[in-house]
Amino acid sequence: MICPACKHDMLVVEYHDIELDYCNRCKGVWLDSAELELLLKSHGFGETKPFLDGILNSEEAVSTEKKRNCPICGHKMKKTAICEQPETVIDMCHDEHGLWFDGGEIRQLMRHLSREHQPEHDAGEQVLAFLEEVFEAPGQSGDGNTRTQE
Ligand SMILES: [Zn+2]
Ligand SMILES: [Zn+2]
Repeated sequence: MICPACKHDMLVVEYHDIELDYCNRCKGVWLDSAELELLLKSHGFGETKPFLDGILNSEEAVSTEKKRNCPICGHKMKKTAICEQPETVIDMCHDEHGLWFDGGEIRQLMRHLSREHQPEHDAGEQVLAFLEEVFEAPGQSGDGNTRTQE
């Protein structure tokens, strides 16, 4: 799949049976709402459905960010605010193909949720550690061949 932000080829990353698409160049993450819910659930964020539904049903956010196209259907995505402090706006396909988090935004989502919903243990930190480990994997970036390395 092609990154909606920088048009680079994205990597498929598997984590707890959840498939994420990750852009090695701009550090953005693409996943659908079911995958996002699973990701949060597998880390002890219990009551995230209302929060996610809120995101899915929210009005278009006012944002100066450029509109991006859905990597699946190619249509322009909607800007949606996921939290206010700091203000974080993500892109979401109108047809619910998925959600796009620019580099660092998924981390802000996790931080936000950690404040609102206490995870069972330090689950939020685990996700963050995982994301850091995988998404900022060692190795040279920039050259044509992007693949995850063991
Ligand atoms: Zn990218
Ligand atoms: Zn779409």
